[in-house]
Order: sequence, then structure tokens, then C-alpha cells
Amino acid sequence: MNPKRIVHLIKKQSYKRKRCIIYYMQQSQRVQFNHAFSHAIDLANAANLPLVVFFNLVTDYPNANLRHYKFMLEGLTEVQKDLQKRKIEFIIKIGNPIDNIRFFYDQAEAIVIDIGYTSVQRRWRKDLYFDIIAKTDDVDLFSVESDVIIPVRQASDKAEYGAYTLRPKYNRNIDDFLDTPSIDSVINPIILSYESDIDVLEPDSILSSLNIDKSVAHSPIFHGGYTEAKARLKHFIDHSLARYPQSNDPSLDLTSKLSPYLHFGQISPLEIYLQVINSQAPTDSKSAFIEQLTVRRELAINYVFFTPDYDVFESMTEPWAYNTMNEHASDQREHLYSIEDYILFNTHDTYFNAAMKQMVTTGYMHNYMRMYWAKKIIEWSLTYKQAYETISFLNDKYFLDGRDPSSYAGIAWCFGKHDRPWTERPVFGKLRYMNAKGLERKFNISDYVDQVEKLGAITE
Ligand SMILES: Cc1cc2nc3c(=O)[nH]c(=O)nc-3n(C[C@H](O)[C@H](O)[C@H](O)COP(=O)(O)OP(=O)(O)OC[C@H]3O[C@@H](n4cnc5c(N)ncnc54)[C@H](O)[C@@H]3O)c2cc1C
Repeated sequence: MNPKRIVHLIKKQSYKRKRCIIYYMQQSQRVQFNHAFSHAIDLANAANLPLVVFFNLVTDYPNANLRHYKFMLEGLTEVQKDLQKRKIEFIIKIGNPIDNIRFFYDQAEAIVIDIGYTSVQRRWRKDLYFDIIAKTDDVDLFSVESDVIIPVRQASDKAEYGAYTLRPKYNRNIDDFLDTPSIDSVINPIILSYESDIDVLEPDSILSSLNIDKSVAHSPIFHGGYTEAKARLKHFIDHSLARYPQSNDPSLDLTSKLSPYLHFGQISPLEIYLQVINSQAPTDSKSAFIEQLTVRRELAINYVFFTPDYDVFESMTEPWAYNTMNEHASDQREHLYSIEDYILFNTHDTYFNAAMKQMVTTGYMHNYMRMYWAKKIIEWSLTYKQAYETISFLNDKYFLDGRDPSSYAGIAWCFGKHDRPWTERPVFGKLRYMNAKGLERKFNISDYVDQVEKLGAITE
């Protein structure tokens, strides 16, 4: 593994023989291609100790509901089964992460955490860091980045202006980070029988007992877990990758639909990368897909990492974008709709309604339609701030991949971030504008509407 993925955050000041090494799984919810898990195994084997994998479930994660929890638990069920086969203990606790992991300071010689980039995930890590410093001096703490191909600070040391500024830096470094982690056996696999709060082998009964928001139904087409992710990847490579350069067309359904799995860390971007690169698809198809998976996805991570308050209207985009919005704040809006209108597919725009239907029913929407959808909400809202908040609310409530760096960057893009000024027009000012005629001119968009219509008939 490239050692630049690993940061030794706390070096212990005194040594005490303890019972185990802990891998605190947070973002990388998988066993395969997991650099943090690999590093934890190495530490366990070096110390001849058993490894315990710890996962903390919070039931009040901002904007998460039954749709997200079900998908995540399906993934964790698979993790538990895999760890069982490897004779590695998997502990799941519910509640405050620090209150729960603190128990292990006495038990563990080292704790390894993986890395997620949202403010909630960063707060968890910061709290853990300061809690260990305050409470003990005999635990090592390591962080390991496994949900990006290039660790965020290795790719760039500052907020990038756009894909064009990140790309050359990214391409210079990528070959150093194609490091498949080795997942060895644990030499001393003793089960210490720590107590879990839940047994994820029964995800459905857990869901009914959890005190979570149940207002959104699970997705009838997306099921969580590594096996599902791998099957989707295989299907994508076998049937769609060669035509990926045409994947902007929503009616062709040529994208991978891997974003929910990437969001929950159920599959590693590096594994996807290597499979795509080693496939038989034409070079331009591979390059087009790799651009999305690497530069675009990791530009979003660069954005949330280097932008304080990346999810607040007043700080998410560029000065030129705020200026143009200020100049057009009082432009006449021809249509105004409420959130209710959106979720009941009740606007005058058939394409927008279809996109909303895809989102509400399945938890997913095609990338091109996400842009169109958000641009329409800007057009139909009284203020830009209200538009931003409506888009963010719907995005995070319904998309399985919501609350992701790509959510915040994708929404900010609609307000000019990582984009450029365009010809000025009413309401949008210099923000890029999209309209129904563009969809009709470029694509067979009525096919997309027909496909979404059929979703109503989908049952489990
Ligand atoms: C308004 C708006 C909201 C968005 N909300 C989200 C969100 O909540 N969660 C989310 O993961 N993505 C979001 N995106 C980015 C993008 O639309 C999705 O990542 C993509 O549609 C996922 O579908 P796929 O896996 O089939 O993509 P594919 O075309 O198969 O691409 C493969 C992978 O590359 C990455 N990728 C592709 N396009 C982008 C992009 N434009 N920006 C960053 N990464 C990209 C994703 O990880 C994706 O899974 C949003 C974009 C916009 C414009």
C-alpha cells in the first residue's frame, strides 16, 4: 500500500499490553479493496493480537431515512458475513460514536479509522482524536484514506478552480496510487465476544426497531452491498461501457449507477478503476468513464475538503455567481412551485416531472437530468437561496447517494461553482441555463419519460 494513504495521528506515549487492534469502520463499509482494513490487519499481525472491526450506527444522521438505512444495513450484513468467515469480530453499536468507542481505549493498542469527507464525518474523527488525547496516552491512532484513488491532500493542496485545474495534477500522481491493498488473514484470530447492540444478519427486523425517519420507502431497484455493486460493475462493463461517450443521453441508460455504492463505501473507486482499465472496451470509452470516476468525483471531494461551509448558500459558490444572482434577484419568475408540487410530479414540465419520479421512486436520477432538474428549481423559486435549500433538501432526502461530496459539488455547480459565466439572461443572469428544447434537440427525451412511467409498475 502507498504509505501516503496513512497518517499516524496519535503516537502512544506509554506501552501497555492490551487485547486487540480496532478498525473503526466509518466510510469504507466493505472488506475488499479496503486500505484501512488492510493496515489494521498488518498492525494486528505485527502485535500478534486479534482484530476487532467496530461500526457505530447513528439513528439521527442528518437527512437520512429508511431508504438509506436499509441500503446501508444490507451492505453491513455482507461485511458481517465476510468477517465471520475470516474469524474477525464485528461490533456494531448504536448512539454517540465517542461514548461507544471510548470503551475500547483500555482494550486496544491501536485504533485505525478510515476517511469520509463530509463535515459530520470529519467531526466524528476530530472528536475521537481529542477524546483519546484527553483520556489516555497508550493508544495509537491512524487514519487511512481508501475511498478516493488519490488521497485528497496528495492530489492538491488547495481548493481547485475546476476540473481543468485538478486534472493535470491528478494525472501526474495517479500511477502512484493504483495500490491494491493486501487483505491477509489475521494470525491470532481470537473472538473476544464484545457485545453488539444489533445483529445485522437480520436487517429488516432491525429497521423496524430503529428510531429513524421512515417517511421514504426503500428503493425497489437498488439493493445494498458489495456483491450487488460488483454485479452492477460487471453489467456496466459488459453492456454499457463501450458506449459510455453517449451516456449523457438519459434515454440510453448507459451509466454505471454505482454512485449509491460509492457513497456508502460498499465498493472502492480503485477497484472500479482497475476493472474498467483492464476491460476490452475502446480507449475513448474507458477515458470518458475514468474522467467521471476520478477527476469529477475527486474534484467534489477537493471542494468539500477545502471549502468551509460548503453546504451553506452564502459560501458555496464564486463571487461572480453571487454578483449575477444579486443583479437578477428581482427578475420576474414565470412559474413558482412548492416542494409539494415537486414531489407530486405536479409541474407543467413533463421532463422535470419524470426526473422527480425517477428520484422519488428509485432513489436515483440520471446525471444530465440532475442538472436539468436543479436548474428548473432555480427558475421556479422566488429566491436563489430558497432554490438552493429546496434542491439540497430533495437531493438528500430521496437520493440514495445524497449527502455526498458529489451532492454538494453537483448542486453548487448549478450555481456556478466549477463552471464559468455564460451569456446573460433573465433569472439565471450569467449562470448556465438549461431548457426543455435542449433536451428535445439532443436526445430522444420522450423515451426517458416512457421508461420512467413504467417505474410505477415495479414491485419487489
Ligand atoms: C444537481 C446535482 C446533484 C447531484 N447530486 C449527487 C449526489 O447526491 N450524489 C452523488 O454521488 N452525485 C451527485 N451528483 C453527481 C452525478 O450526477 C452523479 O454522481 C451521477 O449521476 C451518478 O450516476 P452514475 O453512478 O450512474 O454515474 P456514472 O456516469 O456511471 O459515473 C461513475 C461515477 O463517477 C462519479 N461521477 C459521475 N458524474 C459525476 C459528477 N458530475 N460529479 C461528481 N462525480 C461524478 C460518480 O461517483 C459516479 O458514480 C449530482 C449532480 C448534480 C448536477
